[in-house]
Amino acid sequence: MVKFLDLGSQYRSIRSDIDAAISRTIEASSFIGGPDLRAFEPAFAAFQQSANCIGVGNGTDAIEIAIEALDLPPGSEIIVPANSFIASSEAVTRSGHRVVFCEHDPQTYTIDSADVARRITPRTAAIIAVHLYGQPCDMDALRALADQHGLRIIEDGAQAHGAEYRGRRVGAIGDIGTFSFYPGKNLGAYGDGGAIVTDNAALARRCRMIANHGRIAKYDHEFEGRNSRLDGMQAAILNAKLPQLNGWIERRNAVARRYLAELADVPDLVLPVTAPAVRHAYHLFVVRHPRRDALQAHLRERDVETGIHYPIALPDLDAYRAYRTPQTPTLASTTAATLLSLPMGEHLEDGDVDAVIAAVKSFGA
Ligand SMILES: *Cc1c(COP(=O)(O)O)cnc(C)c1O
Repeated sequence: MVKFLDLGSQYRSIRSDIDAAISRTIEASSFIGGPDLRAFEPAFAAFQQSANCIGVGNGTDAIEIAIEALDLPPGSEIIVPANSFIASSEAVTRSGHRVVFCEHDPQTYTIDSADVARRITPRTAAIIAVHLYGQPCDMDALRALADQHGLRIIEDGAQAHGAEYRGRRVGAIGDIGTFSFYPGKNLGAYGDGGAIVTDNAALARRCRMIANHGRIAKYDHEFEGRNSRLDGMQAAILNAKLPQLNGWIERRNAVARRYLAELADVPDLVLPVTAPAVRHAYHLFVVRHPRRDALQAHLRERDVETGIHYPIALPDLDAYRAYRTPQTPTLASTTAATLLSLPMGEHLEDGDVDAVIAAVKSFGA
C-alpha cells in the first residue's frame, strides 16, 4: 500500500525527540505559554525569514486575526482565489469583510494576478495570496497591484512552510503571513496549531494581543480580543520537528522531480508547472486527467492512495451560493472534476514512488 499521508512513519523516525518533548511539557506543566512556545516562535520566525512570529490556535484563526490586525474599513472587499480551501475565504467573512473570488493560473494553480487586477474596485482592501499546494504566488505581480491600489497582502502559507519566492521564504514578503500546523501539513502538530509572521512590529503586537484577550500583561485588557493560542505541548512537538523540515521538503522535491520526469509522456495527464525562481514546498502534487475518477479507481486497485484538492471550487459550495454572479470565476469549477493528488511526502520510499509511477503509466495501457 502506498499511503497518501503517513504520520505514523514520521513519528517512528523521530520518536525519542517527540516523546521527550511531550513528557517535558507535562513535567513542567507548561501547557499554555512556557519555554517551548517561547523557543518555537523565534525559531519559526527565523525559519520563515520573518522578524516576528505569533503562535495561534490554528491556521484559520491565523488568517482571521491577521485580517483583524490590519484594521481595514468594515465591509471591505478582499480578493481570494476560487481554487483554495474554505479557510482562506471564511476568515474574510468572519472578520466582517466581503469575499471577492478570482481565478487561478491553470499551470501553477496559484492566484492569477491579471484576474486580480480586473476585480479591484474602490472598496478592495486586501488580497489573500494562497501559496496553494506549496507553490509561492507571483508575489512581484501582486506587490505591484497592491502598491498601485493601496492594498494589503495577506499570505496564506498553510501549505507552504519553507517555500521560497526569489530566494525569500514566504510569509513576510507581503504585509503579513499565516501558517497552519494541522497534522497533515508539511509541518504538523499533534492537534491544531497555527502561526502568524510579519516584519511589522506594530502589526505583530496587535496580533499577539487579539489572540490573547486583547492584553499583553495578565489583566490589562486594552480591547476585547479572543482566545487563540498555540499550546505548550504543540509548541514542544513543533520544536522537535522543525530541524527536520528542510530535509522533508527536499525529499518532497526529489519525489516531485521523479514524477515530473517519469510521467511526462503519459497521454492526457497534465503535470503541475513550477514557476521560475521559486522553491516549491510540494505539500501536494496535483495532476489533471480528463478521466480522473477512472484513474483514481485504477490507482486504488493497485494500492495507491490519492486525494482530491479540492473536489468543489469555493464559489460552488452551498456556503457561497449567494455570492454567485455572472462575474464569478469559472476555471476552478470546470477543472475540479479533473484534479487528482498523487501520494506526496517524506514517508515515500523510492519503491513507493516506483509503484505510483508504474500504476499511473499502466492506466489505459
Ligand atoms: C489547512 C489550510 C488552512 C487552515 O488551517 P487550519 O489549521 O486547518 O485551520 C488555511 N488555508 C489553507 C490553504 C489550508 O490548506
